[in-house]
Amino acid sequence: MNIIETNWKWKTGLSTRPRTDYIVLHHAAAITCTAQQVDNWHKGNGWTGIGYHFFIRKDGSIYRGRPEWATGAHASGKNSISMGVCVEGNYETEKTMPQAQKTALKELLTYLKGKYPTAGIKGHREVGATGCPGKYYPFEEMKAHWNNTTKKESEELTMSQYEELKKEIAELKEKTGYFNYIDKNMNESYKPTIQKLVDQGRLEGNEKGELMLTTDMMRILTILDRAGVFN
Ligand SMILES: [Zn+2]
Repeated sequence: MNIIETNWKWKTGLSTRPRTDYIVLHHAAAITCTAQQVDNWHKGNGWTGIGYHFFIRKDGSIYRGRPEWATGAHASGKNSISMGVCVEGNYETEKTMPQAQKTALKELLTYLKGKYPTAGIKGHREVGATGCPGKYYPFEEMKAHWNNTTKKESEELTMSQYEELKKEIAELKEKTGYFNYIDKNMNESYKPTIQKLVDQGRLEGNEKGELMLTTDMMRILTILDRAGVFN
């Protein structure tokens, strides 16, 4: 799941939300709109900026609105105890939510369930006098998804989190100079020596086959090898 960060210009300061008792689901009541437009509308209401914490477009892109810690402006009387998730569209008149949007909404809910496992889920109309999020919004499906998402499931890595983690590990290896000897990132010039030492039994990896050699150690071994020490 990818959350698009936007550098919103808040008109006044944000306040910290004391509790997160539930996630409130909304629709924008507009068939087509961007997060930027919602921000403009909410500023027009005299609010500091976009009132939702998340906004999902029909193509499935997820935008961050207010920071997760902040009090939102989306459910009168309940803002200090809830987070707001809004989708582009008018599901009072549009009968079907696009699959991409539905999938993104479920992914976001899985993510939020992982962070706020004790929170409940509500449609805006359950906490205020409104038809929001519209009679065709797949509310029961989202509610079931929320209730069926266990903490364990939500802790599983999504593909993008996995890719990110892999990148971080590679960067860490780069920074600390630790390499697996079969790691393709290893400097080509060290490979013959390291392979030779492994074949000779002079170097032994751990159970994962990792040698955990620093770049300096590999360099020294290579110099010694060239000097004939291991022949
Ligand atoms: Zn609403």
